[in-house]
Amino acid sequence: MIAADSSFVHQGLASRVVFGRGTIAQVTDEVVRLDLNRVLVVTSPEQEAQGNDLAAQLGKRTRDTFAEATMHVPASVAAAAGALARDIAADGVVALGGGSAIGLAKAVALETSLPILAIPTTYAGSEMTPVWGLTDGQRKRTGRDTRVLPKTVVYDLDLTTSLPADLSVTSAVNALAHAVEAMYAPDGSPVVSLTAESAASALLSGIDAIATAPDDMDARARLTYGAWLAGSCLGATTMSLHHKLCHVLGGLYDLPHAWTHTVLLPYVMRYNLAVAADARERLSRAVGSEDPPGVLVELLGRHGLRRSLADLGMTFGDIDRAVDQAVGSAYPNPREVTAPEVTRILSAALCGDDP
Ligand code: NAD
Repeated sequence: MIAADSSFVHQGLASRVVFGRGTIAQVTDEVVRLDLNRVLVVTSPEQEAQGNDLAAQLGKRTRDTFAEATMHVPASVAAAAGALARDIAADGVVALGGGSAIGLAKAVALETSLPILAIPTTYAGSEMTPVWGLTDGQRKRTGRDTRVLPKTVVYDLDLTTSLPADLSVTSAVNALAHAVEAMYAPDGSPVVSLTAESAASALLSGIDAIATAPDDMDARARLTYGAWLAGSCLGATTMSLHHKLCHVLGGLYDLPHAWTHTVLLPYVMRYNLAVAADARERLSRAVGSEDPPGVLVELLGRHGLRRSLADLGMTFGDIDRAVDQAVGSAYPNPREVTAPEVTRILSAALCGDDP
């Protein structure tokens, strides 16, 4: 609630959002609206056929398709895409796919300043943020640059139904993590908190519904809407311990992105919500229970998707290095981040204990 002693800075990020079913048919109009004539289409190898269909739809407005996007944007792939963009004198990039395809478009934009039109097909939320990432060897660099924020985002609910069941849920939990950490972000605002609560509510209800009806389009709408809102929270605020741990584990041990979020989130929620009263209240309202981490664990169990970090390939011998990195630099968190506590969280998540 707003009060006389409220004080905040809210930086809105401008992007145009087209939302609905079958909206991919509007992409050419949106490309024209941006006054683009020679776009490069980027996507992942698994979505190459879809990328080619999109290129066919764009006709003379596109010059080529680059279908080599992979997780965490390897610098060599970014360089190849950038070189192709220059070769064909591209005047824009159209990204079709999940965070990997959008991340690749961002890497090209970082180098060339080309505008991006994004068509997200997962719930990761990268399309709503000015955050870029690039991986060289084992080192992932990230940064913020408004040039990489997509100018237009086309959400087409029909594109999400082909997401495999496990990726639908883990990707939605990835989005939920953005909303949760935005609720206690040091640079949050009443607008961010409101958005994050709506995101959590839409995402949790969508996850619940697709457990029994994966093709329920109302549920897909809630998930996509939640992903949009959660992505905008990620773009507007600074993330805390949960995102730090996922970043560290992804970088050190190449753990799968959405799965790492899914396994860790209930543990970090339990840890941080103990002191983050406003976030706890908002999440309790969103899930209709005083125990948000418990509800999430129960939901994952219903989907048959409860896993441990050991299931993802991590071992006890890996914990110390991860703890060193997680406590080795300063970042905001509502509760003090200490080596013993991070060791406890990671050990519990490694064993799959109840959070
Ligand atoms: P992803 O983009 O790697 O997609 C996973 C797989 O699912 C790929 O093979 C993809 O082709 C396939 N896929 C995507 N949509 C599909 C669909 N509708 N139907 C069938 N298959 C589909 O995974 P992701 O989790 O979306 O993205 C992860 C990456 O995004 C990570 O590198 C992460 O760091 C990054 N990310 C960045 C930000 C940011 O703000 N910069 C935010 C979130 C995630």
